Amino acid sequence: KPVVLWFRRDLRLNDNPALNQAAATGRPILPVFILDRDPDRPAGAASLWWLDKSLRALDVSLQERGARLILRRGDSLIQLRSLIEETGADAVFMNRLFEPAAFARDAEIAHELKSDGVECRGFNGSLLARPGAVLNGSDAPYRVFTPFMKALLASAEPPPHTTGPRRIETPAEVASEAMDDWALHPTRPDWSKGFDWTPGEAGAAAALSDFLARGAKTYAADRDRPGLPSTSRLSPHLHWGEISPWRAAQRAREAASAAEAAKFVSELGWRDFSAHLLHHFPTIVDRAFRPEYESMPWRNDPEGLEAWKRGRTGYPLVDSGMRQLWTTGWMHNRVRMVAASFLVKHLLIDWREGEAWFWDTLVDADLASNVQNWQWVAGSGADAAPYFRIFNPIGQGEKFDADGAYVRRWVPELRRLPDRWLHAPWTAPAEVLRDAGLRLGKDYPRPILDHAQARARALDALKTVSGRD
Ligand code: FAD
Repeated sequence: KPVVLWFRRDLRLNDNPALNQAAATGRPILPVFILDRDPDRPAGAASLWWLDKSLRALDVSLQERGARLILRRGDSLIQLRSLIEETGADAVFMNRLFEPAAFARDAEIAHELKSDGVECRGFNGSLLARPGAVLNGSDAPYRVFTPFMKALLASAEPPPHTTGPRRIETPAEVASEAMDDWALHPTRPDWSKGFDWTPGEAGAAAALSDFLARGAKTYAADRDRPGLPSTSRLSPHLHWGEISPWRAAQRAREAASAAEAAKFVSELGWRDFSAHLLHHFPTIVDRAFRPEYESMPWRNDPEGLEAWKRGRTGYPLVDSGMRQLWTTGWMHNRVRMVAASFLVKHLLIDWREGEAWFWDTLVDADLASNVQNWQWVAGSGADAAPYFRIFNPIGQGEKFDADGAYVRRWVPELRRLPDRWLHAPWTAPAEVLRDAGLRLGKDYPRPILDHAQARARALDALKTVSGRD
């Protein structure tokens, strides 16, 4: 009797525990992907763009091994049951999802299938350590990153690298829907023209090799410089499970110096920490981890929100980030922090508004990482930045984009402005602006707010909720 291999966010054949275990049974394998509503939150548009390409790539890899990806759409349990009925399968193997509603749904599905006499087995293929595996001395979840990561590294064993079975025996003639009918790729308008990505397992491996050959060598020092290609850009590949985090970690340990590799593995640890927090504290998805922050006096400012989304705040680093996000579906981490902080602190707009925009536009949109990072910036999260840390968008630009490579790429209107004024164009003398061919307020907006005033306003608001002077 065949085994159903239920693919979700583990779209790879290497280092795939569910596939390896299914192959170990020696029985035929039915690889299936079910397009169902995500029970935690429906996927955003950029995620669906990615999914479309990643599933096609997975199908090609399966075909190379003699199999094929079966596509179904609708309620997961109903679809699994009908596949089981059509094929006589009596087992379902999958890699787990750890978001609260998905986790609960999987438990329910396993329960239902068991009552049908179908075995259901789940594995961890997406995180360094399964949530619940890393707890503190009192068996409670960690709330601070550093001890969490220390405990994780002390307890979790990297699994051995596997490449999966060479041939995957699949019963012929199982009905499948067609990818094209799902229409996940945007049509009118197709906003994805600037998306320079290769979704799929081969794309993930290429991104990792590229990183190890270049950025990894100076990662610790350069990862904060958005003008350099110094980070791995593995985030969407990791989100869709096109590469295992342990594989990325181990290859970095082999190829980079110990210090660079440790920094990279620590960033992978933040991904685990985010998943762990969301799993143990499910309300953080839309409620402040620190409840006192629920009384933040947020402003209702549709125009400010729109200027932020469109990259028209008049602050070049913020605008560069927001335009990079819109054009490519990704934003550099340093700039994510600055842009998010600008929304939450300078504009005093609820972090949930920004989180929702990122959710729809990021190709790496990940519920746990997005929510955790937004709450970190807002100050309301576990182990968050202290409330008085308010990123200065000018200073951050001068420090991390000193040569202006990043801003000139994403805000070309400012291209000819000398470095000295690039991050605060309104401070440039009239003749400098004229020489640069820049008419402020026409070619590029004047700042929509004054940094010092906004900072003072944010501190006042934050003091009321944090109870500090
Ligand atoms: P690298 O520097 O190469 O890091 C390697 C991997 O470590 C990343 O691919 C990612 O999986 C993980 N990682 C690195 N930093 C973080 C972090 N701070 N938190 C969690 N994981 C991390 N990341 C997402 O994957 N999805 C999101 O939806 C997301 N939303 C964010 C929202 C805000 C406001 C901020 C400040 C950060 C957010 N991040 C998110 C984290 C981070 O910005 C991205 O993971 C990173 O920029 C991805 O680029 P990279 O793969 O080149 O990173």
